[in-house]
This record gives sequence, C-alpha cells and structure tokens, in this order.
Amino acid sequence: MKFNVSVCCDKCACTTHCQLALFNRPQQPWTFRCAACGAQIDITMAANGDHSKVVTKVQGASKLHERWL
Ligand SMILES: [Zn+2]
Repeated sequence: MKFNVSVCCDKCACTTHCQLALFNRPQQPWTFRCAACGAQIDITMAANGDHSKVVTKVQGASKLHERWL
C-alpha cells in the first residue's frame, strides 16, 4: 500500500513531496529531514487489522494533502 503525501515544514514553510509505503505491520514510522532547512519531519502511518483504514500523523510539518495509490 503506497501513498503520496505533501508536507509543509513547520520551520521554513518549504514543501516536500514524498511517496511512502505501508508494509505488513500495524505502524510504520518514517523520519526524514527537510531538504531546505534540515528540520526533522516524522510521519507515522497506523493501520487497523486488515489495512482497510490507515491514519497518518505528521510531526514537524503540516500535511498539505495525501493520495493513496
Ligand atoms: Zn524546513
């Protein structure tokens, strides 16, 4: 299960586009740095048992939009 997400860095307001995947686990954490200022951005994906519902949480940035592929 993959999705595209765009986030806006809380520190410098730079937009980052990324494609992430959820593997066979209930939670998938991702951490990366803003390409412009180096601030840490954390995205955690949490799914229910059959992955029919997935929730994403973003820290260090604001989620602009996401789209499941
Ligand atoms: Zn930044």
